[in-house]
Amino acid sequence: MAGEFELIDRLRQQVQSHPNLRLGIGDDAAEVLFGKNKTPVLVTVDMLMDQVHFDLANTDPRLIGRKALAVNLSDIAAMGGEAIAIVVSYALPKGAGDHGTGDQLAEQLHQGIVELAEQHQVAVAGGDTNSWKGPLVISITALGQPVGPKAIERSGARVGDLIFVTGELGGSLAGRHLTFTPRLKEARELVNNYDVHAMIDLSDGISSDLQHILRESEVGAVLHAEQIPIHSDARRSSGDRSPLEHALHDGEDFEVLFTVSPEDAVRLTSHPLLTGTRVTQIGEITAGSEPFLIDQGERRLLTRSGWEHSL
Ligand SMILES: [Mg+2]
Repeated sequence: MAGEFELIDRLRQQVQSHPNLRLGIGDDAAEVLFGKNKTPVLVTVDMLMDQVHFDLANTDPRLIGRKALAVNLSDIAAMGGEAIAIVVSYALPKGAGDHGTGDQLAEQLHQGIVELAEQHQVAVAGGDTNSWKGPLVISITALGQPVGPKAIERSGARVGDLIFVTGELGGSLAGRHLTFTPRLKEARELVNNYDVHAMIDLSDGISSDLQHILRESEVGAVLHAEQIPIHSDARRSSGDRSPLEHALHDGEDFEVLFTVSPEDAVRLTSHPLLTGTRVTQIGEITAGSEPFLIDQGERRLLTRSGWEHSL
């Protein structure tokens, strides 16, 4: 693959700025301005495909539906937003194998979507169903609104900011990639209590996703290996990667990474989130343009080896 990110860059260059857009291609969601009052609305879409993002033959369809929604809610959270409504599109395989007919499969997928939507008070507004001889594809579009006066962008990180991450990282493919909780509540609490400068959700791994913040904000970063919160799933994962490498590169954690001023960092470190979700300071924003990792006293470039979505 030529690279998902390079392609997005090329598509972005084909689009001009527009008065209806406060923020277009290149963040976790777009921020569109509606009506006379220019009310900001967040919009994001994610498409999940069998054999790329999940394995239908070996997965409960309710979890697949759940994940299709959860990744969208995670993007809304990453904008410092709350989710309002979704629309869902299915391309259903003709004959759904172990999961019955295409219709039965759709009902199970939808059950997973509706349950998660209810948990987050999100309206399921409609959608489109088609069937074909190809594999299952689900696409969900989510609409939301910023919790604060405007969305938190990737471009707001400043030199001297401290970098934080929610939760624990690595080994998500052991199961958490299907069952994770999108960090909407955490994002709301953070935005309501702190001046969050930049935020992104960790879909591809810190080593990839941090680079988006650095590029959009035109800054560098230093991470401290011993501060990275490593999930127990990463310690259990086999293969060539160390637990730290799993935490840095695996992806599909769907935690949020964000930056705040040193003053807010002190407050945040001494006030646990009401949700109980761990928040860990992992590094700082520096001048420059590259991410570095300090590991056992050695400073090295943190290169991108997160995955660009291939199972
Ligand atoms: Mg994202």
